Amino acid sequence: MPPDTTPLNPGAERSTAAPAAERVHWMVRMNWRNRSIFCAVLVPVFAVHLREVQADTATWVLMLVQFLLFPQLVYGYASRQRDSARQRRAELGVMHLEALLFALWSAVLGFPLWPSFILFAAMCLNFVVFMGWQGLWRLALVLAAGVLLGAVLAHPLRWRPDTSLLVTGMCMAVFTTFLISFARDGYLRALGLHQSRSQARRQLEEISLLQARLREAALRDPLTGLYNRRHLSDTLPGALARCARQGTPLTLVMIDIDHFKQINDRHGHAAGDAMLQALARLLQTQVREGDMACRMGGEEFLLVLENAALQPAWERSQALCRAFEALTVVHEGARLQATMSCGLASCPGDGTDADTLLRGADRALYAAKEGGRNQLRAAGVVA
Ligand code: GH3
Ligand code: MG
Ligand code: MG
Repeated sequence: MPPDTTPLNPGAERSTAAPAAERVHWMVRMNWRNRSIFCAVLVPVFAVHLREVQADTATWVLMLVQFLLFPQLVYGYASRQRDSARQRRAELGVMHLEALLFALWSAVLGFPLWPSFILFAAMCLNFVVFMGWQGLWRLALVLAAGVLLGAVLAHPLRWRPDTSLLVTGMCMAVFTTFLISFARDGYLRALGLHQSRSQARRQLEEISLLQARLREAALRDPLTGLYNRRHLSDTLPGALARCARQGTPLTLVMIDIDHFKQINDRHGHAAGDAMLQALARLLQTQVREGDMACRMGGEEFLLVLENAALQPAWERSQALCRAFEALTVVHEGARLQATMSCGLASCPGDGTDADTLLRGADRALYAAKEGGRNQLRAAGVVA
């Protein structure tokens, strides 16, 4: 079995001020509680049996030590170990010692059937719970050693399996109590595990959601919410490859607000921002499914119109220019208006790779500015 190096409980190893019981390994605590209860209820069982077999005083004293003192002594020993792994190892050692002593008791008393059975069954449960199937082999060896020791101490061993009806009934009651206590521990641990798993699943979902949001935020321009230049360089080559495969056109529309600096200078930077946001909203509402609007930086935007040849792209851009010209942005009482210029480059006519097309659209935009602004130019025409 791999060594258990889990902390005794969260924070316990860091804080020396934690209550003593909280620093004890859960297995030591659980066994202490179950062992104390089990052994305490065994006292009347063995008392009745010892009276019936007329045991001597030494046997009575040893019985009281075994069932009343032993659980407390071994708890003190295991819980005083320095760390979690040592406490667990000590508890496993205690379980072996306990099994040895129980076998010894059974052998010395002549293997009384019911008391021996409940001791044996309780040990089987304990060993399998904490050591798996291989626990049974260990238990068999320890029990054999206990019986041998009994044979040495109480030679010759007697065979007295019969117990009175009272002892049998008490054994049944004790064993039922033990099973109930064990089942309760199993239930509580399963419940705890289930809750931890659900919590871990919830946290994982939250992390995934946050990661998705972060990924999305890294691709967006914070002022306008449009995709940024980085997203464009990530996706444009793919879009072009798709168009080449399908034999469909694609047009880039480079957009720049005319005399934008004047808006900033006259009305302030915040007014300029409001104008940028207004244009972004306009672009966003005008793009179709599959098209993309990006903010390239400053007051420069780019539309990627998939499945759009130059002519329809030109018409849509012209409509956008008119819509923007007609737009009035109200900022702190000021009514702002502006125009924009566009440069268009189409695939495959003006190029088939991203760089060539972007350069073409930029050149066309420059020509539109040169031509007097508030107008469109196509790369093919200005080349
Ligand atoms: P043109 O018609 O030739 O395009 O002239 P312009 O004034 O629009 O162009 P110019 O390149 O001279 O000025 C662009 C201005 O945009 C300068 C810069 O301060 C401003 N700007 C860039 N980014 C932002 C921003 O995020 N917010 C605001 N308010 N202004 C910005
Ligand atoms: Mg400008
Ligand atoms: Mg500019």
